[in-house]
Amino acid sequence: MNKKMLQFINLDQNTPEKRSTGERKKDFHEIYKDFINEKAQEQSSRCSQCGVPFCQIHCPLQNNIPDWLKLTAEGRLQEAYELSQSTNNMPEVCGRICPQDRLCEGNCVIEQSGHGTVTIGSIEKYITDTAWEKNWVKPIKIKKELNKSIGIIGAGPAGLACAEELRKFGYQVTIYDRYDRPGGLLIYGIPNFKLEKFVVERRTNLLKQGGIKFIQNFEVGKDKNLHELKKDHDAILIATGVYKTREIEIEGNNLKNIFPAMDFLTASNRKGLGDKVELFDNGTLNVEGKDVVVIGGGDTAMDCVRTATRQKAKSVKCLYRRDKENMPGSAREVANAIEEGVEFIWLSGPKKFIGNKKVEQVQVNKMILGSADSSGRRKPEIQKNSEYNIKADIVIKSLGFDPEDLTELFSAKELSVSKWGTIKIDLNTMETNIDGIFAAGDIVRGASLVVWAIKDGRDAALQIQKYLKEKIAEKNNIKAA
Ligand SMILES: Cc1cc2nc3c(=O)[nH]c(=O)nc-3n(C[C@H](O)[C@H](O)[C@H](O)COP(=O)(O)OP(=O)(O)OC[C@H]3O[C@@H](n4cnc5c(N)ncnc54)[C@H](O)[C@@H]3O)c2cc1C
Ligand code: SF4
Repeated sequence: MNKKMLQFINLDQNTPEKRSTGERKKDFHEIYKDFINEKAQEQSSRCSQCGVPFCQIHCPLQNNIPDWLKLTAEGRLQEAYELSQSTNNMPEVCGRICPQDRLCEGNCVIEQSGHGTVTIGSIEKYITDTAWEKNWVKPIKIKKELNKSIGIIGAGPAGLACAEELRKFGYQVTIYDRYDRPGGLLIYGIPNFKLEKFVVERRTNLLKQGGIKFIQNFEVGKDKNLHELKKDHDAILIATGVYKTREIEIEGNNLKNIFPAMDFLTASNRKGLGDKVELFDNGTLNVEGKDVVVIGGGDTAMDCVRTATRQKAKSVKCLYRRDKENMPGSAREVANAIEEGVEFIWLSGPKKFIGNKKVEQVQVNKMILGSADSSGRRKPEIQKNSEYNIKADIVIKSLGFDPEDLTELFSAKELSVSKWGTIKIDLNTMETNIDGIFAAGDIVRGASLVVWAIKDGRDAALQIQKYLKEKIAEKNNIKAA
C-alpha cells in the first residue's frame, strides 16, 4: 500500500500483514474522511512546482494542477476553486473516483522520486466540497438565450458535461434518459462509499436550475427512435454508455443466484437511495451472512467485493484468471479490498457452477500464464487436473461490458459502428456518419473512465457549437443569395 493510502485510512485495527490474509475489518473508515484545511494546505505546499507539470499532462482534462495547488497552499481557496472548475465540470467527483495512481498522482515527480505523491485527488475534492459549502458554486447564468436546441441521449458524465457547456453558450438543451434519476453510472453503478449520491444529485439539480431540461424514464428506441428525436432538435448527442454484460458460457450458468455485476450494484445503490427493491428486500440480492464469489479483476469487480463486505457477507472471494500484477483494476482499489478482508484467488478461472436449482459451489481451474497474446499480455492457460471447489451462496459475474446494438435499438441501420459495436465518429468533429448527430463517452471509447467521459462531453459541446454556427451561417447565406 502506498504512503498516500496510509494517510487516509484509519489503521487502528490490524497490521498490514494481517489484513493481506483477508482478515475482516470490523467497520469501515472511508477514504478521505478526515481531510481538513490544514491537511489540504500542507499537502498542496508539498508540490515542488517542478516546471514540467507531468500531473497536468497526464490528467485527461489537463487540469491546471500546479496553480490550484499553489493557491490552496496560500489559503486562496475560492481562486483555487475557480481555476479548478474552469476545466472540469465535476471536480469533486473526479477527486473522489479518478484512478489517480494511473493519472495525475502516478506521474507526480515527487512520487517518481520515491517520496509519495502530492494527494492531488483529495485536494481537488476538498477545494470543490468547500466551494459547495461556502455557496461559491452557482447555477449557469446565460447572457442571451439562443433559439437552437440540442437533444442529449444519456444523463451520464459525458451527457451532463456536454449539456452544461452548451447551456453556457445559451442553447436550449434537453437531456433524455431511460433511468428515473440522472447521473448514469455515477448514480447506479459506482457505489456510495466511493461516490456519495448527494454529490451527484446536487450537480444535476444545479444543471436544472441553470435551465437544462431533463426528461427521465425516456428510452430512445422505445419512446422515440433516433430520427424522430432528431426532428425535435437541431443537433443530437448520443452519450448512452455501454451496458451489455459480457457473459460466461460454462455449465451451470442457468442456476439461480448467479447475477451480473450491475444487477447487484444497482440494487445496492437503489437501497442506499431509499428505493424499494424487491430482489434485495426478499434477500436474493442482499448478501448479508452469505459466501460470495465475484468473478473478474476490474474496477467493477472491486466495487462488487467491497459492496459485499459492507453488506456483511460471511466471506467474499474474488476469482481472477491472471495474477495480481496483471489485474486490469486500479492497484489502489485492490489494496482497499484486501484491507477490507476480501480474499483474492489469483490465477483461477471458473470451470462450472454446481448446485441443485441454486448455485452451491464454483468449480475452479488453476491457471498459469502462458506466452503473450496480440495485446502483449500473457495469456492464462488452464493447469491440467487442477480443479477444486469453493462454496458459494451467490456468484456475481463482472467480466466487463459491451455496447448494446444501437443500430437496432435506435432503428438507425445506417449509423456507423465499429466491430465492437461502439459508435464511429469523425475524431476531429465528433460527428457520427449522420448529419447533426454526435457521440461521446463510453459509447465511443468502450468502457472507460468518468474523467474521459467529461472530457469527451466538453469536446462534443465545442464541436456542436461549431456545427450550429456553420448551419446558421449557411442558412443566412442562402437567404442573402
Ligand atoms: C461499477 C462501475 C464502477 C466504476 N467506477 C469508476 C471509477 O471509480 N472511476 C471512474 O473514473 N470510472 C468508473 N467507472 C466507469 C465510468 O462510470 C464510466 O466510464 C462513465 O460513467 C461513462 O460515462 P457516460 O456518460 O459515457 O455513460 P454512463 O455513465 O453509462 O451514462 C449513460 C446514460 O445513458 C442512458 N441511456 C442508455 N441508453 C439509453 C437510451 N436508449 N435512451 C435513453 N437513455 C439511455 C443510461 O441510462 C445512462 O444514464 C465505473 C463503471 C462501473 C460500471
Ligand atoms: S481530474 Fe482526475 S486525473 Fe485530473 S487532476 Fe483530477 S483526479 Fe487527477
